Amino acid sequence: MSLGPTNSYTPQAPNEQPYIAFEGISKTYAGGSNTAAIPILQNIDLAIGRGEFVSLIGPSGCGKSTMLKLVAGLTPAGAGKLSIDGMTPANAREIVSFIFQDATLLPWRTVAENVGLRLELERTARFRREEKVASLLELVGLAAAAKSYPRELSGGMKMRVSIARALSTRPRVLLMDEPFAALDEISRDRLNEELLRLQNEQKWTAIFVTHSVSEAVFLSSRVLVMAPHPGRIAYEIPIDLPYPRTAETRMQPAYEDLVAQVSKTLRGVHSL
Ligand code: ADP
Ligand code: MG
Repeated sequence: MSLGPTNSYTPQAPNEQPYIAFEGISKTYAGGSNTAAIPILQNIDLAIGRGEFVSLIGPSGCGKSTMLKLVAGLTPAGAGKLSIDGMTPANAREIVSFIFQDATLLPWRTVAENVGLRLELERTARFRREEKVASLLELVGLAAAAKSYPRELSGGMKMRVSIARALSTRPRVLLMDEPFAALDEISRDRLNEELLRLQNEQKWTAIFVTHSVSEAVFLSSRVLVMAPHPGRIAYEIPIDLPYPRTAETRMQPAYEDLVAQVSKTLRGVHSL
């Protein structure tokens, strides 16, 4: 891999423990009273390096959201071992942040008050909180909208507020479940570029779920193509494009080749 000086992905030494490790993870949801339990994920083995940006793509229902919920400790695994920086998901909660497709902002709070919500819950002193919120708003380009209410914002701006709020607790792992699915293509492209800039500054590890092949290729060091019934990782496609990635990355033949490769793989999985 050719890596630029400001690359956000620093590969680990081979003998270093993976930062996030799924070992033989299976997950079953109980069926109804007359039905057998339904296997959702089967025997997932996955090692994610510190600072890596991994995307999950695959047909609806193949277990992408469940993968994220397992890491977040929102649902337990049925079998296997899952560790995040050597911790169980329950113990790693403080270093993990989740961003959903719906920005889930509180309509009666201003932008600044929404971003500061978690800091309030953590009882951060008001002065520190205001200082942190101001710098987060600066970071996501929303300083001028601090006193606006969610209803006054575009979809892209709402998602920026959601990102700022997720980053307020200085997470080391960022889980994103189709965060930009509701946005138009231009806004999505811009937010993709901003997200990589933020990762380059803050060096968190990312697991990103999307249905957009081009988005997955643009963002990721690796794209995992999942297959359903039961959910599993069917293919792993390394994205050997140098970081930092910019709007120009999308013009490069190597990028287009990778988009075509992932699309083809995904079509194969859909016909399984
Ligand atoms: P994806 O995000 O890839 O669309 P999910 O992880 O949301 O897939 O869901 C995987 C499968 O698990 C689906 O078949 C879904 O119906 C089922 N499922 C998800 N959550 C639950 C739940 N709480 N109880 C029972 N089944 C569930
Ligand atoms: Mg989902």
